[in-house]
Amino acid sequence: MHKQYHCISKDSVHYQVSPLTMSPAAGPKVLHVAGHSSCGFYNRITKCLSSVSLLFPNRLRVIEHEFDDRTMYRQWLVEDGFRNNFCDQEGKEHVACPIVWISNNPIDGDPDPADIEKYLGGHDATLDWCRDFMEPAPFAPIKPEPETVNDGHKADHGYDYDLVVIGGGSGGMAAAKEASILGAKVALCDFVKPSPQGTTWGLGGTCVNVGCIPKKLFHIGATLRESIHADANFFGISSVGVKPDDMMGQLPNMKTETHWNVIKDNIENYIRSLNFKYRVGLREKSVQYLNKLATLKDAHTVEVVDKKGNVSQITASRVLVAVGGRPTPLDCDGGNLAISSDDVFFLNQDPGKTLCVGASYISLECAGFLAGIGNDVTVAVRSILLRGFDRECSERIGDYMKEHGVKFKTQVTPSKLEKLEDDRIKVTFSDGTDDVYDTVLAAVGRTADTAKLGLESVNVVTNPKNRKIMTKFEQSSCPNIYAVGDVMEGCPELTPVAIQAGKALARRLFGGSKESMDYVNICTTVFTPIEYSCVGLSEEDAIAKHGEDGIEVYHREFLPLEWSLSQMRHDSNAFAKIVVDKKSADEKVIGMHYVGPNAGEIMQGYGVSMKNGLTYRQLVDTVGIHPTSSEELVTLSITKSSGADAAAGGC
Ligand SMILES: Cc1cc2nc3c(=O)[nH]c(=O)nc-3n(C[C@H](O)[C@H](O)[C@H](O)COP(=O)(O)OP(=O)(O)OC[C@H]3O[C@@H](n4cnc5c(N)ncnc54)[C@H](O)[C@@H]3O)c2cc1C
Repeated sequence: MHKQYHCISKDSVHYQVSPLTMSPAAGPKVLHVAGHSSCGFYNRITKCLSSVSLLFPNRLRVIEHEFDDRTMYRQWLVEDGFRNNFCDQEGKEHVACPIVWISNNPIDGDPDPADIEKYLGGHDATLDWCRDFMEPAPFAPIKPEPETVNDGHKADHGYDYDLVVIGGGSGGMAAAKEASILGAKVALCDFVKPSPQGTTWGLGGTCVNVGCIPKKLFHIGATLRESIHADANFFGISSVGVKPDDMMGQLPNMKTETHWNVIKDNIENYIRSLNFKYRVGLREKSVQYLNKLATLKDAHTVEVVDKKGNVSQITASRVLVAVGGRPTPLDCDGGNLAISSDDVFFLNQDPGKTLCVGASYISLECAGFLAGIGNDVTVAVRSILLRGFDRECSERIGDYMKEHGVKFKTQVTPSKLEKLEDDRIKVTFSDGTDDVYDTVLAAVGRTADTAKLGLESVNVVTNPKNRKIMTKFEQSSCPNIYAVGDVMEGCPELTPVAIQAGKALARRLFGGSKESMDYVNICTTVFTPIEYSCVGLSEEDAIAKHGEDGIEVYHREFLPLEWSLSQMRHDSNAFAKIVVDKKSADEKVIGMHYVGPNAGEIMQGYGVSMKNGLTYRQLVDTVGIHPTSSEELVTLSITKSSGADAAAGGC
């Protein structure tokens, strides 16, 4: 039973939001302050809190619990043990006046243990909290001014070029064009070494030829087919001659066939058009394009070899290495029989029954679209899916893929691949089992393409584990040699990162800019059959950084409207979750995650807000767009710590 005390409990007079209409998550912060009227510290802190709540009535509500004298206050706090209700040891030992705590769900009247969310402290801790509360969120993060070593570049350097870029992928092309726009004389060398299976492609690097673009187009094809199978009939669309009435109540199965050569040829033709556009783009920007394999001979000399084996040398004041990476080969007996993501988009026939080796996003995305266009697909996973991503979201992806026909062989690696007489591949796994596949696709990681670049000859330090170039503000240990994109240690392996870093570097080298590249809070999307997009920290990383007590997770599971009519979709849900820094004043958002349709489209805008210090309060103050999945992110109120079910009701 709650004991009655001789204290006056009064609400801050400035509070303007009705407690009945206020969701605890979206309403003002509620602070309880208890003390006795003869205490100077109590009087000072109540005045201070009262002023803050007057200034920010919609953000702060204060409930004062005033005792007549010190004895009564001590009796309530210490002898009767109100302080024992705090989780923190510091709270349990608090004796001074005042004591302040944050409320969970404000209950009127005397101090109630049920009303405690967290112990705040005494006079000094509350003043600190007020300072933090009133400090405006920085509009944009302050980027450090790059500290780089003088690379000796002079206007009259006497070399052939101001800049030679090695690698014509996302990062190299962006840097080369930007530098040229800024008046530099630039050459760009791009040469595609054939994959071990002999696949080769045109200008533009991984993204456009064997990465983002063909992958997303195959994913779109697979999603389209899934929609035809799972949704079309429920929207009254059927094959000619089949009445929708005949199908309701049973699983409709519109018969479809995917023609590999059509999708593959159309994608290939589109990529060719992009290759051509890139060549034109370089010409228009006056960048000298050399379709040649480049090797560093010394810090200013690059040896280039064309397709016919003709060797020549060019010199440059500055060199940018942007050679990206290549798939790591499968390290087992017969591993050379496996193809990689460098080959899959160019296969002349449907890969058929396929084993995807690896739990990386590339493996899961390939498995997803191959299954989505109708193939029998198995993924071999050594340990966990999508290492580095949020665990809960990664597991949801695995579950969805399993429910949608992708098989998983877990805790195994292939130990042997053998070619059979019918050209199929027999795979023996580490657990002794085996199976036969038409295609084995290895996606077990990527290795920086620096092995034969001559970096040792110019003392460019690389990470021995992955051969990536160590840099400080993109400058390597050889001052006039720089690196951007996948080849740079610590750079997220994403196209827009390479592009932005390349442009920023070019502006610093040739445009007088002091802006460094900001590698923090970069949005990314995994284009698995159910898409997953995120920005900021995973729940696990947030706990590692802020402690379990330092974060809160708001989450919700829901059925997206586009899936609501289809009986075939009712086992699947989308999921949204945000991770906040509980100790910051308005609960700074430190991670956002969304698993569901159109994830990439949803997360991009939130990424802008995250870059600008988004708080939970700002998020829930934002009016959603209805009916969309994106609005779920601005209406999240179920906390993980409450233990309440993340599955939400309707609108
Ligand atoms: C299957 C797959 C899917 C992906 N999906 C996405 C996605 O959805 N979103 C995303 O943001 N990112 C994605 N990526 C990653 C993205 O493609 C890379 O991060 C990006 O291409 C890196 O750009 P880069 O400039 O560092 O290198 P690259 O684009 O790899 O370009 C390097 C270029 O240098 C050339 N080269 C290498 N050595 C030499 C040399 N010695 N001389 C001359 N030329 C040389 C190479 O042939 C290549 O053309 C994906 C990657 C893969 C493999």
